[in-house]
Amino acid sequence: MTWSAPCARIDHAALRHNLAAVRRFAPASRVWAVVKANGYGHGLEAVAATLAEADGLAVARVEEGVRLRRAGIRRPILVLEGMVFADELAAATRDDLALAIHNWDQARLLARGGELGVPPWWLKVDTGMHRLGFPPAEVDEVLGYLANTAAGSRLVGLLTHLAKADEPEDPASERQCAALGEAAAGRGLPLSIGNSAGLIALPAARSDWVRPGIMLYGASPFATGTGADLGLRPVMTLQTRLIAIQSLPRGAAVGYGGTYVCPEDMRVGIVGIGYGDGYPRHAPTGTPVLLNGERVPLIGRVSMDMIHVDLRGRPQAAVGDLATLWGVGLPVEEIATRAGTIAYELLCRVAQRVQLEHD
Ligand code: PLP
Repeated sequence: MTWSAPCARIDHAALRHNLAAVRRFAPASRVWAVVKANGYGHGLEAVAATLAEADGLAVARVEEGVRLRRAGIRRPILVLEGMVFADELAAATRDDLALAIHNWDQARLLARGGELGVPPWWLKVDTGMHRLGFPPAEVDEVLGYLANTAAGSRLVGLLTHLAKADEPEDPASERQCAALGEAAAGRGLPLSIGNSAGLIALPAARSDWVRPGIMLYGASPFATGTGADLGLRPVMTLQTRLIAIQSLPRGAAVGYGGTYVCPEDMRVGIVGIGYGDGYPRHAPTGTPVLLNGERVPLIGRVSMDMIHVDLRGRPQAAVGDLATLWGVGLPVEEIATRAGTIAYELLCRVAQRVQLEHD
């Protein structure tokens, strides 16, 4: 059956290829595949199942870990951020979800434990991001505090998150790695540092455990270049159809606000995708769209369900033609740059009404 609604094709062979690339960059590290935010928009359970070779999975919230357990995933799961309430601690314990403990409220909750005991946990150290984590100066105190509780024997390791890994020439990342090393000195515990950018560009971030996200999905974590430059393959290809063609006279203003004015008599294609599907509303005139594999420029404002494209020089274009918004043949990084955002946001913001088709 052919539908005119947008769909996101998910290439699972590309996912496996990208995990193999992680192993090449960090061959001595174990890998938490980061699958939070619905597998960066690619489908939580499906991505987790395909990444069976990863040593573990990392999510942001307990609820995401519970979903993975319900899907029958038995591998180690680390919850990076969201354990705030006793109910979440109980769910994490029941489902054997490791927790990143990053503040005293969590530490006190963990110290009390629950009927079920406590889950394994990592201590998150704030080495410079200043978002979550204990300052290095408090590491002794918090570990001492928890050592004499039920949680004491369940400590696994220390982790930190890099604030500027995508700017490899900035010395801040090296300093963060060194700070974690100092906080961990003499403890004999595994460390986890590298996200995608860190494990690619910074040897010191290729820690015992690394936590790649975006590179698994085939996009580059850096401000310039694409995943292909790093040997990665795009996993998501977002596609839809040309749903109408307008023949407009010179001077006709196209779409909301009439921001694009036809410079001559011309054909304008209407493509069935908009910000209601997760296509960025701020994509400006000139943003490329692939129509039957050839680039045409977007014109005018993005609507909720539609965009317009310039069909000059495309006399063969016809209603029903396949349009690709990003993915194979059109890097998501390029669209993100045009729209003033990052590939991460475009991928994980694909709307629920867009069908994911798993290849
Ligand atoms: N580790 C933590 C704590 C994160 O918050 C994230 C993502 O934001 C990652 C790892 C994965 O980062 P990336 O997608 O840049 O590889």
